[in-house]
Amino acid sequence: MPLFRFRGGAKVAGRKDLTSDRGIVTPPLPPVLHIPLQQHVGNPAVPAVRVGEHVVKGQLIADAKGTISAPVHAPTSGHVTRIGAHTAPHPSGLPVMTLSLEPDGKETWIRLPEPLDLQVATGAQIAQRVAEAGVVGMGGAAFPAAVKLNQGQRYRLDLLILNGAECEPYLTCDDRLMRERPEQLIAGIRIMMQALAVERAVIAVEDNKHISFTILREACAGDPGIDTVYVPARYPMGSSKHLVKAVTGREAPATGLTAEMGVIVHNVATAFAVYEAVALGKPLISRIVTVSGKALRRPENYDALIGTPVSWLVQQSGGLASEPRQVLMGGPMMGEPLPNLDVPITKGTTGVLFLEGTEVADKNVMPCIGCGSCVTVCPSGLLPLEMAKMLQHEDIDGADRIGLRDCISCGSCNYVCPSHIPLVQFFNYGKGRLRNQDQEKKQHERIKILTEQRRQRLEDGTATAPSTPGMNERNDGASER
Ligand code: SF4
Ligand code: SF4
Repeated sequence: MPLFRFRGGAKVAGRKDLTSDRGIVTPPLPPVLHIPLQQHVGNPAVPAVRVGEHVVKGQLIADAKGTISAPVHAPTSGHVTRIGAHTAPHPSGLPVMTLSLEPDGKETWIRLPEPLDLQVATGAQIAQRVAEAGVVGMGGAAFPAAVKLNQGQRYRLDLLILNGAECEPYLTCDDRLMRERPEQLIAGIRIMMQALAVERAVIAVEDNKHISFTILREACAGDPGIDTVYVPARYPMGSSKHLVKAVTGREAPATGLTAEMGVIVHNVATAFAVYEAVALGKPLISRIVTVSGKALRRPENYDALIGTPVSWLVQQSGGLASEPRQVLMGGPMMGEPLPNLDVPITKGTTGVLFLEGTEVADKNVMPCIGCGSCVTVCPSGLLPLEMAKMLQHEDIDGADRIGLRDCISCGSCNYVCPSHIPLVQFFNYGKGRLRNQDQEKKQHERIKILTEQRRQRLEDGTATAPSTPGMNERNDGASER
């Protein structure tokens, strides 16, 4: 299959050799699991159990709230010891409602739902099962997978791309999954194709993962609808829009979806979770995570239960070899510093890195020398230097005009900047400000519409007289009953 070039991108040091040959290891049960109810894009899940309750493995412990949300299931059997937001750790460092569970060591499973009969299952039924299993995008985005599997109803789709690029340095969790569980992965791809009603799927693997590529090519040899393709190891190849461009030549609009181009992109680990949900009836309660970096004694790929504290995995890896200069959740390009080691593995955690001084670039910030490297490398065709200048002067609208919303926060500009200017921090700050502005604008427009509707009703004589607070209270109570 011919490949197409995408603009920009950086050649980054892979540093995957620390774990690429380490097979997937299942760690022992930790003494406690901290399970956040917000592990996905959308509304947080709502607790479905109480403190003190005994739960079994796979039991629903928090319900999805709305369409863009995901339920959460017990990763093992045990007792719920706490549900709260203030003391529980979360990767964001913010207080997020979290359920703590003390395992009883028995690993007693709930009775799982019967596998779906794929001979007769509709796309909507498959998506429903995936939603009930709490499957989210496992490449880090954590967008509810069922919502994307329903896109076939809105868009004319012709291709599913499985993202096996894993372009972030250090991370090898997808690589190990592709090597060790290819049959289940291919079965998950077929299920996704059925849900999306597409006849073609392509597994895109970076050209530095020859073993995975060969294994997958053999595993799907008998299936004319599924193909494997090498994509260049060029960061950020794992970004869905750039992957679509590289594989199909189609360019999705900056603020649009790849579905508008007829293509849906799912991570390979999501395909595996879809297989487990649909063919085995299993909810998403564990994931493969790379724990790496030279400050760690024994880097590994763990199949960890959701909620496992990072400190437990460090202990399984023989502890720290030296004081890390940086501890990151995710890869070094887009990962976030960890607030502490009690933070749990969530559905979107691809890796945790313990980097020593030699692995972290010298961060002394110097003035811009106008070299233009950030412009050359930007895969979104932006002018990072100009945007950063504007944001430094709080000119949010100016940065918006020259494309701030198109920035995918990939960190390529940071990586190549010889002056170590923290460009992506400016962009994340600016995008946060834009989000707030948008929300305020929406709120303002809503109030304007409501005021106008009320004015019209008053003019028509159909508006009711304003109620007294006491009457409102009584009315609210009556309507609830
Ligand atoms: S972080 Fe944004 S501006 Fe920088 S290279 Fe990536 S997309 Fe371009
Ligand atoms: S890469 Fe850094 S030094 Fe070079 S133009 Fe961009 S901001 Fe300036």
